[in-house]
Amino acid sequence: MGKTIIISNRLPIQLQISNGNIDAIPSVGGLATGMKSVHSGNESLWVGWSGLTQEDTPPELEKDIDEALEKNGCAKVNLSAEEVEGFYFGFSNRTIWPLFHYFLEYSEFELDFWNTYREVNRKFADAIIEKSSEDDVIWVHDYQLMLVPQMVREKRPNTSIGFFLHIPFPSYEIFRTLPWREEVLQGLLGSDLIGFHTYDYERHFLSSVRRLLGLEVSFNDIYLDNRVIKVDSFPMGIDYKKFKTAAQDHEQNKNTHKSDLQKRLDSHKASAPDTKLILSIDRLDYSKGIAKRINAFEYFLNKYPEYKEKVRLIILAVPSRSNVPQYQLLKREIDELVGRINGELATVNWTPIWYFYRSLPFENLIDLYTSSDIAWLTPLRDGMNLVAKEYIATRTDKTGVLILSEMAGSAYEMNEALLINPNNFEEQADTLKRAITMPEEEQKSRNTFLQNRLERYNVEVWANEFMNALKQKKEGGDDFI
Ligand code: UDP
Repeated sequence: MGKTIIISNRLPIQLQISNGNIDAIPSVGGLATGMKSVHSGNESLWVGWSGLTQEDTPPELEKDIDEALEKNGCAKVNLSAEEVEGFYFGFSNRTIWPLFHYFLEYSEFELDFWNTYREVNRKFADAIIEKSSEDDVIWVHDYQLMLVPQMVREKRPNTSIGFFLHIPFPSYEIFRTLPWREEVLQGLLGSDLIGFHTYDYERHFLSSVRRLLGLEVSFNDIYLDNRVIKVDSFPMGIDYKKFKTAAQDHEQNKNTHKSDLQKRLDSHKASAPDTKLILSIDRLDYSKGIAKRINAFEYFLNKYPEYKEKVRLIILAVPSRSNVPQYQLLKREIDELVGRINGELATVNWTPIWYFYRSLPFENLIDLYTSSDIAWLTPLRDGMNLVAKEYIATRTDKTGVLILSEMAGSAYEMNEALLINPNNFEEQADTLKRAITMPEEEQKSRNTFLQNRLERYNVEVWANEFMNALKQKKEGGDDFI
């Protein structure tokens, strides 16, 4: 077996250029952490876009950038601003993202987007072919690169190729509306192993393959020409230890070191000790159901007015894709909703919603997770939802209640959470009441199960299980029939 080649839209590195100096800062995101065991030493290479367009890259620094990346086991694919526009902001985020999250009416079927997507996927595939050899193992990530497996397969018939989709795969009835549906399926089928977060996404994919391509599917094997393609689910975990340790340190240092945010949270708690804090954290994305959640909160306060002045909803909305019109509209809708509800319901001592539109440093995320009695996450669709897992991991005394949408991939593994349908306001209001009044013993019992599971299936285990399945497939010799 040769090297491991990982390929994703973005490299796990942040490049910073100042005064002709280049800093390559490793990213701390979930994927980068999970891949640590797979992407280490000289035996692996991570190929992706650096985040700098060709226009933004000073030509005299090109060589230095390549060297800085190489030191971190990375190689870049160069993209022009126009390519990023059509491939990333266009086809990936305005066609595939809404469609795969069941927002059919937001999905734009633009031929130009599709053409650029294909061209850029070809660029990524060429970069892999140039940098790899036949006996390397290739792991392609996510919806931006769905054509890459087949493009590599054409040149490298015997290379082991895995693909993992980090977002949902929609039902056949939704997927079939995509004008380039066959091409996307064919692209993915260049892989030997295709992974999804949940069994349902896997089932949807198999159904589309059967119905759109007429291929033979047996259990989770697809038969194509002389190959067998395996499809399986690998629910992605979190870096459990990192969140647990951060929460323990937070608790230990609470008398010596406190962030400004924590001071504010503490003074709020001190002034109203029986008030419950309800937390939601999401990227500002229509798939996350933020506006609906705010409406449901108002519904709850009207249904159970005894909780006015007794609960506070903290919304952290992280700016995202703010150049896409739907995201701008959503931002305005949320601003207005928060303003209206706070305006109508606030009293001298109480503001029902604290709203932050920004991204917070890790330390402040831990402040919020550890200070909140309830996490309330209501995506309308979500491939996984890691925030739900992170909240549970930081509850070192095992108290806290998680209310989670059934439409999140993580709900499949988090049965002990209070699962809700985000469109059902009655159920949400009743569940909020249940969460607020849940006895501590019940909270602890639920969270013990959740924590044990999250600790066991952490992100490193996820990455290793995928890689082992891919390697086993190769060694098992069942590639050919
Ligand atoms: N997050 C962050 N900064 C913030 C708020 C959140 O880095 O200010 C992280 C959070 O810890 C989580 C990720 O963003 O790991 C969100 O992942 P999730 O799967 O919940 O949603 P996604 O944004 O991937 O759709």
